[in-house]
Amino acid sequence: MLANMLRFDIITIFPDFFREAIDYGIIRRRHHVVDDRPFGGGDGMILKPEPLFAGVEALTGQSNRNDYQVGTRVILLSAQGRVFSQAFAQDLSESAVQVILLCGRYEGVDERVSEALATDEVSIGDYVLSGGEPAAMVVIDAVVRLLPGALGSETSALNESFSEGQLDHPQYTRPPDFRGMKVPEVLLSGNHAEIELWRKEAALAKTRRNRPDLLK
Ligand code: SAH
Repeated sequence: MLANMLRFDIITIFPDFFREAIDYGIIRRRHHVVDDRPFGGGDGMILKPEPLFAGVEALTGQSNRNDYQVGTRVILLSAQGRVFSQAFAQDLSESAVQVILLCGRYEGVDERVSEALATDEVSIGDYVLSGGEPAAMVVIDAVVRLLPGALGSETSALNESFSEGQLDHPQYTRPPDFRGMKVPEVLLSGNHAEIELWRKEAALAKTRRNRPDLLK
C-alpha cells in the first residue's frame, strides 16, 4: 500500500511556539500590522484578514474555499468552531492531502477568514485559549498518529477511546503487586475469552463513571 502523504502548514504569528515539537521552515512575510481594533467597538484587537489571506494564497494559489484542490482543508482554530473529535481526526487522516491550520490570537480573527477561507472552523473544547497554536498542535498530533506506519501496530487505533463510542479499557503492566495494589487476577490468567470479557466490562464501567455522555 502506498503511504498517504499528508502535509501540514501552520499560519501563526508565533511560529516559535512549534519550535520544539515540529521540524519546520518559515515563510517570512512582512506584515507590519497584523491586528486592529474591532469595528463596532469592544475590547482588544482582532487579527486582520490580509496576512491570513496572503498566507493561504501563497500555499494554495486560491483565496476562496470553493477553489482549493481536492484534499485541501483549511482549518480555522476557533472557540466558536465545531468541537474536534476522533471521528474528525480519522476523516482528516484518510481524506486530506494538505491541512492548513490558521491560528488566531487576541480577541480572534476577522470573520471574513471564516466566511471565505476556512473549510472547517474547529474548537478543541469548551474553554478559551489565548491563541490557536496549542489547538493546532492538538489537531496535528491526533491526526498524525492515525497515519499508516505511525503507530506501533496497525490495529492499535481500532479499539482505542472514542473509536467505538466508549473509552479504552484500563491497562496494567508489571509488577503484579505494587505496594499492595494488585493487578486484576483475570489479566494474569492467560484465558483470552475471560480477559476480553473483563476488558469490555471495565471499559464500560469507566465510561459510565467518567463519560456517561458517551453512552447516551
Ligand atoms: N473572543 C474569542 C476568543 C479569542 S481567543 C471568543 O470568545 O470566541 C484567541 C484565539 O485563540 C482564537 O482566535 C482561536 O484561534 C484560539 N482559540 C481559543 N480558544 C480555542 C478553542 N477552544 N479551540 C481552538 N482554538 C481556540
